[in-house]
Amino acid sequence: MAVGEGLERSELWHRAQKLIPGGVNSPVRAMRSVGIPEPLFVKRASGAYLETTDGRRLLDWVQSWGPLPFGHADPETIEVVRAAALDGTTYGASTEREVDLAGEIADALPSVEQVRLVSSGTEAAMSALRLARGFTHRDRIIKFAGCYHGHADPFLAAAGSGLATLGIPASPGVPSAVTADTIIVDYNDIDATAAAVERYGEGLAAIIVEPVAGNMGCVPPAPGFLEALRALCDASGALLIFDEVITGFRVGRSGAQGRFGVMPDLTILGKIVGGGLPLAAFGGRTEIMGRLAPAGDVYQAGTLSGNPLATAAGLSVLRRLRDPKVYEELERRSARLEAGLAPYGHVQRVGAMLTFFTGSDPVTHFVDLDTDRYAEVFRGLLDQGVYLAPSQYECMFPSLAHGDDEIDRTIAAVAAVCG
Ligand SMILES: *Cc1c(COP(=O)(O)O)cnc(C)c1O
Repeated sequence: MAVGEGLERSELWHRAQKLIPGGVNSPVRAMRSVGIPEPLFVKRASGAYLETTDGRRLLDWVQSWGPLPFGHADPETIEVVRAAALDGTTYGASTEREVDLAGEIADALPSVEQVRLVSSGTEAAMSALRLARGFTHRDRIIKFAGCYHGHADPFLAAAGSGLATLGIPASPGVPSAVTADTIIVDYNDIDATAAAVERYGEGLAAIIVEPVAGNMGCVPPAPGFLEALRALCDASGALLIFDEVITGFRVGRSGAQGRFGVMPDLTILGKIVGGGLPLAAFGGRTEIMGRLAPAGDVYQAGTLSGNPLATAAGLSVLRRLRDPKVYEELERRSARLEAGLAPYGHVQRVGAMLTFFTGSDPVTHFVDLDTDRYAEVFRGLLDQGVYLAPSQYECMFPSLAHGDDEIDRTIAAVAAVCG
């Protein structure tokens, strides 16, 4: 049976659950945690809006979790992808656009000289970690609770009991031998990080961090936090890895590293760099990146890496992000949204990423938030046609497709639900 236009959502959901584990291809798409048994199915999207298979039009603040600074179905992106497809969808051999995209990334990010393109943020983080370990000849890493770096085994670690202990597997299937080299520390806790470096510094390959956390809600770095990480890495010989999968090209053209003026040794990119197609990247100084095969001895590869459709989309988006007016406008709109939502909860924002926390306390590191209250707010907004992420631990992603009308409508909807 073909998936027809008129297929009822429940019937589709029934088939999905039968054929796909949990009915979804990424857990965060399920909506059970916000009290909605059947997730929405998207039929099409344009600008700031999604249309669902059951005919609802939703004002979308999820925006595919961040890759779309110009909104859905951006005409220029569609045009270049269509043109690229006519020339073939994959070759497994080099293309000019891969070089151009690497150039665009290196031009934007002050710490990056060389770039390797991959297909997902998970793959980029996993590869950057292998490179850091190969470069330093060390195994241990420090990561921060609540930061997400994709689902490669070494990052699926949870803190053991006590301060700065070795990580334990956060999922069945992750070997404890792998997470034993991952040390978990609280975000923004300089003293705990210094203590962990003191204890494990000799074997420390890298400290990896989201320079603005976006996976425990939007949590900005405390003043001095990123600078402290830089100093701790310099003192111990570990590499500093910024996971800029969300922040890259979002909090500014030069990412969080440019915005906060702290240079990492390696940078992980994803989301915006692919312009909405499956593409991610990691980069850094030639001294480090040059250790990757075939230039060096650290192995990394990919059949679809630097895919011609994805590089076309990425280039189209990144070239338009050269215009500072784009960021001025994203900043203005995001600030308008922040100011409008602030009376009804607590808003944390850096550039065009923000979280509306239903509680009133500032969030500085990973804590258990009031997800029941958030679930109520989520459902209330959905009833009014406003779609936020189905989790309190995520961000809203304003784009240039979100005009003042969309922003003001969202504020009014939140006022109606929370006021
Ligand atoms: C989304 C995300 C990833 C993983 O990217 P995928 O393309 O989903 O594998 C890694 N790091 C951060 C900070 C992310 O937000």
